Parts: sequence; C-alpha cells; structure tokens
Amino acid sequence: MQITTPAAVRANNLSITLNLIRERGSITRTELMELTELSAPTISSLVNFLISAGFVEEKGSAASSGGRRPNLLHFNYDARHAVGVDMGATHVNVVCMNLAGQVKSHQSRRMDIVNLPRQTLDNIIEMVHEVITESQVPMDEILGLGLTVPAPLNTITSGTFLTHYMPSWKGISPIQELGKVFSMPLYLENDANAGALAEKWWGSARKCDTIVFVKLGTGVGSGLIIGNEIYRGFSGTAGEIGHTTIETMGRRCRCGNQGCMESYVGLPGILMDARLGLAEDASWVGSLDNLTVQQVIEAARRGNQFCQQLIQTAGRYLGIGLANLVNIMNPGMLVLGGELAEAGDFLVEPMVTSMLNRSIPFEKHMEKIVMSELGQDAVAIGAATLAIIEAFSPSNLYRTLHRMDDPILKGGEAIQKEG
Ligand SMILES: [Zn+2]
Repeated sequence: MQITTPAAVRANNLSITLNLIRERGSITRTELMELTELSAPTISSLVNFLISAGFVEEKGSAASSGGRRPNLLHFNYDARHAVGVDMGATHVNVVCMNLAGQVKSHQSRRMDIVNLPRQTLDNIIEMVHEVITESQVPMDEILGLGLTVPAPLNTITSGTFLTHYMPSWKGISPIQELGKVFSMPLYLENDANAGALAEKWWGSARKCDTIVFVKLGTGVGSGLIIGNEIYRGFSGTAGEIGHTTIETMGRRCRCGNQGCMESYVGLPGILMDARLGLAEDASWVGSLDNLTVQQVIEAARRGNQFCQQLIQTAGRYLGIGLANLVNIMNPGMLVLGGELAEAGDFLVEPMVTSMLNRSIPFEKHMEKIVMSELGQDAVAIGAATLAIIEAFSPSNLYRTLHRMDDPILKGGEAIQKEG
C-alpha cells in the first residue's frame, strides 16, 4: 500500500512507533529514532500523543554511556483489553485479556453449539458480559471482540462461515447478532487459525515465522502461519488437514469422503471406539453414554491398556496426516492443541514414529513438535489477539486511541517520514 496523504503518513508512523514500544515493553526515545529512522521532533510528537492517550508512560532511566541518563518509555499493557470467544462444536470458552496476552478472567461452558445456534449466542453474550465485569475493565476500554468458529469462513469480511457441518447456522451471521448487543469492533476467524495466532504471539511458537497449529478436538483442523501471516489459500479453506485421506477405503467421514484423518483422530471417532471397546467392562457401566475424551485419557494414565491403545492408534493416524503436511509445507514448528493433546506422550510418541517413517528423510529432524503453551484457552486468546492486531493497525489506530479530534489526522499538519 502506498501511503500518500499526510494523515495516512502520520497514522502509519504512529502505528509503527506504538507497536515497537508494545513489542519491546520499554525503550528510549533515541532507540525509537534509530529503529524508525524518524526525527527527534517527530518521535517526540508521536510519543507525547501516546502518553496523553494512556498507552505509554515515561519513568525510570536506562543505562547511559555518559552524561544524563535517558528516560525509559514503558508500554502500559493494561491500557486496553480485548475479548476472545472460542466457539467449538461442544464448548464455548471466553477470555478477557490485556495487551500482554494475560488472561484476566475466563469462562467455559459445554453446550451443543452445532444444533442450538440461538441458545449458543445468548450464552456467549452472557459470558462476554461476565468476563468483562470480572476483569473490572470499563466497557469503553475493550478494544474489540474476536469470535472463532469450527469451520472455514466464507470470506474474511463477511462475518459468516461455511455451514456445511452446522446446517442449523445457515443464514445466521454470528457477527451481526453480536453487533446488536456490543458496540465494539467484532471479528470472525476460524478456530485453528486463531490458535496458530495465539501460539505465535504469546505461546510456544513465539520465535518462529512458519508454523502449524494442529487443533485436536471434535474436528481436526490446522492453522497455518507462513512468513508471519495466516495462510488461508485461494478461498479460505487452507489447513483442513482433518479431511486429508489416510485410508483409501476407510471410515465414512462427516464431509462425505471416506478414510479422512478426522474420522480416526477426531473425538467422535475415538469415543465411538471407546464405547465399543469398553462395553463389556463392568467398571464403565453407566458412564459410556456421556463419555468424554478426558475420561479416556485419565483411564490411559491409570494404566487401562485399551484406552492407551486407542490413543496410540489415533497418534499413528495423526502422524500420517502430519507427515503429508510436513512434506508439503516444511514448517519450522508444529504446535499440538485441543482436547486430545492433553493425552501427551500416549499420543505424541506413536505420532512422531509414524510421522518420521513417512516424511522425506532430509526433513526428519528439522521440525520441532511442541505442545500448546496456552492449553485450552489458546483459541480464545487467539481470537482476542485478532482484535488487538486490528486495533493497532494504521487504519484503526485513531479509533483505538479515542482521539478523533487530532488536528494532524485531518491533514492540517503533516509529519512526513524522513530519509
Ligand atoms: Zn472428511
């Protein structure tokens, strides 16, 4: 994008300066000048503006090589907060977090999202109000709300998603519905993409620019970040790793295909196998109808061999799917998240073995495989991160800073980038 108007130049400089202070946490004006190549008066003007808006504080002093010690600028990570809503197939997780990615409060409820859209939206609205109240943040200090769905989006800006697996949601725009209640910027994202964003910003993948976040839940999806950007593909369905074929004549999948990885690694497939295998075991009588994957994982940890084998089989299938992904994409890091990831080594050891057997030899030791650092909140944190990224982009920055009356914004007094 070519920046032409004085207001756009100013907004861009302000965005760069703000994001630098936010990333570093503390920095001197001189360092800012060196990093941005902006002049002292320009930096001074931008910094003063950020101080008056409450985002930056000037205090303490940095080490000096002689002469007066320069003041340090500190980013105020509690200046604003963002809300993230992770709407899975069977749960809603909501977080309110500050600008350092610290969760101030969170709520989690289990519900039948797929079949009950209206009740789900009512619950989300209630939970969002609750996390904001619990965090003790005034409503006008919430930058925005990100919501994730367990499906690919129609387009990034439509606020709607592909309802193929969730037909009850046909014709319902969750963003439009939430917009009737919340007067803040609202964003929609695919759940695995949000998980990838969260791990990249605050979790296991902070130093990597090309990563895959694999979400192991009811569905199996992946969020791809390539060169620090979410990779969506031509029409937004990139990363649907759960629907890659791993058994040519295998199980029927909910997508209509046969032998998809998801039908073996997704929770409904695992729970179906568990119910069948545990049906004869008297100690499970009465608990099989509402069996959860957490119970299966717990039983495996306690030494139940059938449950151990069940998870190991899922791990082997997962490894096949990931070998295909690694052969195509060669990411620097694979981050495993979602409920099944809690199984730890029962899942990961067979997964790695089958992955290494099938990925091309020269890549064998290149990929790092790690568990999600953010755990069950990863997707919700990613959704909130989306709101933060958007709020600090040049085009939204002035709304974020509540200073729409800035004369420079209106083009009166331009500060151009030198150099
Ligand atoms: Zn499928």
